[in-house]
Amino acid sequence: MFVVMTAGASEAEVLGVKSRILAEGLTPFDHQDADHVVIAVVGEIGARKPDLLEHFAAMPGVDRVNPISRPFKLTSREFHPEDTVIRVLDAVIGDGSLTVMAGPCSVESREQLFETADAVKAAGATILRGGAFKPRTSPYAFQGLGVEALRYLAEARERTGLPVITEVMEPSQVDIVAEYADILQIGTRNMQNYSLLRDVGRVARPVMLKRGYGATVEEWLMAAEYIVSSGNPNVILCERGIRTFETYTRNTMDLAAVPLLHHLTHLPVIVDPSHATGKRWLVRPLAIGGIAVGADGVMVEVHPDPDKALSDAEQQLTPDQFRSLMEALVPVHEHVRGLHGDPFLAGAATGFGADDGLAKH
Ligand code: PEP
Ligand code: MN
Repeated sequence: MFVVMTAGASEAEVLGVKSRILAEGLTPFDHQDADHVVIAVVGEIGARKPDLLEHFAAMPGVDRVNPISRPFKLTSREFHPEDTVIRVLDAVIGDGSLTVMAGPCSVESREQLFETADAVKAAGATILRGGAFKPRTSPYAFQGLGVEALRYLAEARERTGLPVITEVMEPSQVDIVAEYADILQIGTRNMQNYSLLRDVGRVARPVMLKRGYGATVEEWLMAAEYIVSSGNPNVILCERGIRTFETYTRNTMDLAAVPLLHHLTHLPVIVDPSHATGKRWLVRPLAIGGIAVGADGVMVEVHPDPDKALSDAEQQLTPDQFRSLMEALVPVHEHVRGLHGDPFLAGAATGFGADDGLAKH
């Protein structure tokens, strides 16, 4: 439930509500929007709900109590209506600009990373990606250069000015990855690794949470809720394809998830057509598709010589293909921005909650 304070509520009245929530063994999270404070009541409320609703509604400074809430609270639009905007060095994610994360699947050497970093920067990428710790299906496949790759990523940031994103696979790696990288990535296989989610919730770095390949949108948002409720509000969601019965593509890219998420949550949404399709020639149309349905950006794998890549050789773009993709994406993004008043695309901003046909919990 959410307690909505009146526009003129005093600090003491807000504190009064929060103390009452704490006294019930629950946790208050407050958010100041344009004109009032909203307090989310988080925890196992159970059968106390009717009594608590009545109690909070009668407290001084309370405008109303909203009992309708989804299982995800802090990540929901109900609690936080305006978009979350994340700033990392010169990159801004979620403000309507086009975020482009590009770079190799795996960091293979300093030269390979620098060559890719220079090329993607020149073509207009805003964030450099590169895997240091690699989650591979086979234990015999290349597992990444580890800390050596983290050092190269930090050097590539110095060289290009681009913030860097890389995956953290386990709790013991969180501190070292956070020391070198600007954004921590949680991979699809770890979306429900709750101890890892809590640990990245405690660091002062944005986190990009990839969708579990078998996860529903609600499970994905609950995973994001772990990070935000642990203290880190800067979460980016990345649709990277889900597993279906289709075998021509590596995964099935769920484009509908993009506007759906913009409706349900204030967090920025990125699409990754590289892992979603697994095929180089499908990356371009799906990247364009992702931006056309309103994604805040794309993540694309780029390698100087994709056929020789140590991982994901079939899906990485050459620098030339990436440049050409950027030339196509920028005007699509400009055009889609101009459509933001369209009620179909702007579902997030309009009519939330009343009749959206989504299950309430
Ligand atoms: C990656 O982006 O390097 C990666 C391994 O992706 P995913 O977790 O989506 O498979
Ligand atoms: Mn990859």
